[in-house]
Amino acid sequence: MAKQFDKPFTQQEPIPESAIARVADILRGGRLHRYNTVSGETSEASLLEAEYADWQGASYCLAVTSGGQALQIALRAAGVGPGTQVLANAYTLAPVPGAIFAAGGKPVLVEIDDNWHTDMDDLRAKAEKSGAKFFMLSHMRGHIADMDEITAICEEFDITLIEDCAHTMGARWKGTRSGNFGDISCFSTQTYKHINSGEGGFLTTNNPEFAARAVVGSGSYMLYGSHGAIPPEEVFQKVRLESPNCSARLDNLRAAIIRAQLPLLEENIHRWNVRYGILESGFRSAPGLEVVERKQHEEFVGSSFQFKASGIGADNIPDFLKRCLARGVEIKWFGGEEPVAFTSRYDSWAYLGKMDPLPQTIRILSTTCDMRVPLTFSEQDCQDIAGIVADEAAMYLRT
Ligand SMILES: *Cc1c(COP(=O)(O)O)cnc(C)c1O
Repeated sequence: MAKQFDKPFTQQEPIPESAIARVADILRGGRLHRYNTVSGETSEASLLEAEYADWQGASYCLAVTSGGQALQIALRAAGVGPGTQVLANAYTLAPVPGAIFAAGGKPVLVEIDDNWHTDMDDLRAKAEKSGAKFFMLSHMRGHIADMDEITAICEEFDITLIEDCAHTMGARWKGTRSGNFGDISCFSTQTYKHINSGEGGFLTTNNPEFAARAVVGSGSYMLYGSHGAIPPEEVFQKVRLESPNCSARLDNLRAAIIRAQLPLLEENIHRWNVRYGILESGFRSAPGLEVVERKQHEEFVGSSFQFKASGIGADNIPDFLKRCLARGVEIKWFGGEEPVAFTSRYDSWAYLGKMDPLPQTIRILSTTCDMRVPLTFSEQDCQDIAGIVADEAAMYLRT
């Protein structure tokens, strides 16, 4: 009988016992809100901000309720308002256009290239044509574009760069952490990201005014002074009345859950990459499947795996994925006409109105497949998955 895989692709590892103990303490104390502290106490959320700023190597950090809220607050803090044009690579997840829209911005979508990176020629052309002064760069599925080129284009056109690091927390480009290239950067601790707090997110920046506006925008009222990684009071004095309150404060329970996982991140990145490596070599030897070579400057986090089912043909891909699923291997496809689960193509964001067509992005996504790599999978599991997918892919080449 054909081999069957039987582990769920959505199963996370347990939350560390130290977090469970700390959460229980906070629950017993009743002070769940970040501004509810007794004299001399620093809230869990503020402790987290200081630790994350230090870990990331950024001057300022703000903890919020989700990555999507971080994006929206970052855009507003950087100066996006009604009618502001914002460049964005079209291969991303729905929270990105959602955040631009919510901040009142108008997305100017940019094509991707065959490596799922921002297409530099199109970025340059659209920056020139639109005159947009903001670029929200999504490192979608952890694929980091040539950051030397990106930052050079941003400098040339005087563009404020906002990085969406939802899939690159802990990744690096030429040794610099992802998130330290942009003027302001956003992270997610939603359950499928590199730290799991159910929901949650961060924003980091070295720009004091962006930081102050973001803190107030997250809903600090005039209690901003208790935050853990903020600019001096005089900066707040200057900008504190400028930011609409988005009520997106992180609570102490989630902060405790995140704090316990931060020290494990480097080791977990290594564990992800071991699994990714096994999948990569397994899929590489599979007929009809193409595994994109990753640039040597990119130290990515292999928390998900993408490949192109180029040799199978777009028409056969739904059938191919159904066969994989029947054997327990859950693969998503970015090429479907209808949005399914978390995968979304730019033409499904109808609320944005009519967008210029992006034929190159559509062509690339038409064969792009995507798989989660939870750390609950063993190395043997990854080998088994690659074997099953290779078996099924071979079916299409024989007929
Ligand atoms: C998850 C995700 C976000 C937003 O994170 P949430 O915490 O779920 O709001 C933003 N961008 C990308 C690419 C993501 O995958």
